[in-house]
Amino acid sequence: MASAYIMERVFNFSAGPSTIALEVLEKAQSELVNYGTSGMSVMEMSHRSADFEAIRAGAENALRKLMSIPDNYRVLFMHGGATAQFAAIPLNLMTRNGKADYVLSGQFSKKASVEAAKYGDVAIAASSAGANFAFIPATTRESFRPDADYVHICYNNTIFGTRYPYIPDTGDIPLVADMSSCIASEPVDVSKFGVIYAGAQKNFGIAGLGIVIIRDDLIGHEREITPAVMSYRLAAENNSMYNTPPCWSIYMTKLVAEHLLEQGGLTAAKERNEAKANLLYDYLDHQSFYLSPVDAPSRSIMNVVFRTEDTEMDKEFVAEAARAGMKGLKGHKAVGGIRASIYNAMPIEGVEKLVAFMKQFAQQHEPNA
Ligand SMILES: *Cc1c(COP(=O)(O)O)cnc(C)c1O
Repeated sequence: MASAYIMERVFNFSAGPSTIALEVLEKAQSELVNYGTSGMSVMEMSHRSADFEAIRAGAENALRKLMSIPDNYRVLFMHGGATAQFAAIPLNLMTRNGKADYVLSGQFSKKASVEAAKYGDVAIAASSAGANFAFIPATTRESFRPDADYVHICYNNTIFGTRYPYIPDTGDIPLVADMSSCIASEPVDVSKFGVIYAGAQKNFGIAGLGIVIIRDDLIGHEREITPAVMSYRLAAENNSMYNTPPCWSIYMTKLVAEHLLEQGGLTAAKERNEAKANLLYDYLDHQSFYLSPVDAPSRSIMNVVFRTEDTEMDKEFVAEAARAGMKGLKGHKAVGGIRASIYNAMPIEGVEKLVAFMKQFAQQHEPNA
């Protein structure tokens, strides 16, 4: 029988850092003080040791298998989460014509574009800012400057609850995608992208790690001023160990990736994630107490955003839900309201419990809803 402290775990709907499968945490716990036959913790181990190199290679291999990453792509483990990549991308890629095109679909794509503009000529190719980011803007090849060094998108908008319903056609221009809050949530055709990157702490591990999946011909063109720790060339040449990498974060991503493989890979993950998201959206579509601000075709299956008509009521919802064992439901400070982040590791039981709570809360506060 599970011990009391495990039974007291709540359903954690936090956007990030976020819920991790109990099996993964327990595996980490079982190996915490003595990893394999090493006689020490992963946290104490030299990153140059054979044991750690096997962990790094294991993480890469699990990721390759899980995401069907083609052989001409490198997998790099870097420092500084996704935000470091906001600078690393222009430093490494905005080097042929010094131009890049960004699609604005939320706060993180905006931050990425502001960071890139420090290094060159950034154009906004399309934006849904005027509609408070309620949808993913449509683009065609003609939306982008033909001499842009790359096009940048944010594939899943964690704060606004939207996800790309299509992969933009950029012709020969490399497409760069921030997948921090949706990496490994469903199968994607990696070959359609020049770079996919993600901070690990939402759907794929813990904080501090930036995962970069990059087509190999895009490596090696960085500016001279590129900090060594942000250079894709140095990361690739040194198997992500130019300096001491975030070892424990890499180990956790390995465990998460292996656990996903054991559970049937990304096709199965997508089915589970859609089933969870559909429970919430179906309920939202058939009632009038809660408002769902996102246009249906752009709805995220990872972050479900909604609110009541009253900000005080939203606060009460979040507080009452926490008392009932569902934490982390407060919307991002930029938008307020309520947000349920239902990443891979959120079991359907958590979403069922949330929908039951939403019904009960609506009944109590507006009996005719
Ligand atoms: C959280 C998030 C980021 C920032 O990630 P950090 O690891 O905190 O730098 C960037 N992009 C998206 C889409 C995110 O969800």
